[in-house]
Amino acid sequence: MNIHEYQAKELLSKYGVAVPMGKVASHEDEAEQIAKDLNVEKFVVKAQIHAGGRGKGGGVKVANMLDEVKRLASEILGMNLVTHQTGPEGKLVSKVLVEEASNIATELYLGMVIDRATEKIVIMASQEGGMEIEEVARTNPEKILKEYVDPTVGLLPYQCRKIAYFLGLKGKTVNKAVKFILGLYQAFTEKDCSLAEINPLIVTNDGDVFALDGKMNFDDNALFRHPDIEKMHDPNEEDPTELEAKKWGISYVKLDGNIGCLVNGAGLAMSTMDIIKHHGGEPANFLDVGGGATADQVLQALKMILSDPNVKAIFINIFGGIMKCDTIAEGVISAAKEVGIEVPLIVRLEGTNVELGRKLLSESGLNIITGSDMREAAGKAVDAAK
Ligand code: GDP
Ligand code: MN
Repeated sequence: MNIHEYQAKELLSKYGVAVPMGKVASHEDEAEQIAKDLNVEKFVVKAQIHAGGRGKGGGVKVANMLDEVKRLASEILGMNLVTHQTGPEGKLVSKVLVEEASNIATELYLGMVIDRATEKIVIMASQEGGMEIEEVARTNPEKILKEYVDPTVGLLPYQCRKIAYFLGLKGKTVNKAVKFILGLYQAFTEKDCSLAEINPLIVTNDGDVFALDGKMNFDDNALFRHPDIEKMHDPNEEDPTELEAKKWGISYVKLDGNIGCLVNGAGLAMSTMDIIKHHGGEPANFLDVGGGATADQVLQALKMILSDPNVKAIFINIFGGIMKCDTIAEGVISAAKEVGIEVPLIVRLEGTNVELGRKLLSESGLNIITGSDMREAAGKAVDAAK
């Protein structure tokens, strides 16, 4: 799960991570009131969407006077913000963060992720702040320090000092950075983060450090023990089909290919995508209807697949264990009646009640391509999508 910048900053400040003073607003008048209450000289108004690159896209504006805050907030609120991370369709802005503007001496980068290969948390730091770190990693990897943290030992102060020196910090700023990094690490581990990224981490003219931006991702499987984080969930930021899927208890992830997949069981769904790729095709989605899906869930799943205009063929790959093959067949038939299936439908059924399932499908009058096994059926699906 992702959260907004303003939520990340609220959370991080509880861990002693220095963030600029500010508050979130949904209306221009509210933005103006926040600016008044801040009682400072310069402000920054920032679009709150789950995507980076807002600055370049026109979603981050500095106001040199109180009067400008209201105007900037009204410009940004309701705008469709397009950045390199939103895709060309952009994202509607419904909240802005109003902050005291900082006097930036340097922009640095600090990030934490879980490194699966070493089973450690890796802290990444670079003096190339404010830029895309992926680009720095590609062109100048030596400009990124990677410091690995053994989770059983925890982050040690000497590691933070090493990072601070690599970032070129001096004097009292080193101690401030150490406190900052320790706080970020504590938030990361206590809240089961999968990513925390401060880009830029700034040093002010006075030698203070602040998180000017904040991005945090959390492990969905750990959310049950963090109701405070779960409450931060913003459904407006999710793919509408994925949201609909969740409501029906279906795991759906949209992908870029053209073969819609309907499968039961996450393992089979993964291998279905593999075998499609093996045959030179591209899956349009990951979709697991679960072990004991009802005909209704199958109907919903097919509707989701069909709502994707890229889908040129549908591959149904079911191994009926708890799930019965006739249930699948019923779902497919009612979907065909209700929404119509214009694209080729390739079905591979095996397991409980397979004979009954096949009979229902063959008597349905639907134009169905069958495969005797998974490999053959996948090949047919790839051919049909061409
Ligand atoms: P992003 O573009 O979505 O990553 O948004 P950021 O929060 O990182 O802001 C983008 C850029 O706007 C930063 O790299 C800064 O250069 C600039 N910026 C943001 N806040 C301030 C501020 O308080 N003062 C000044 N001078 N610049 C700011
Ligand atoms: Mn940023």
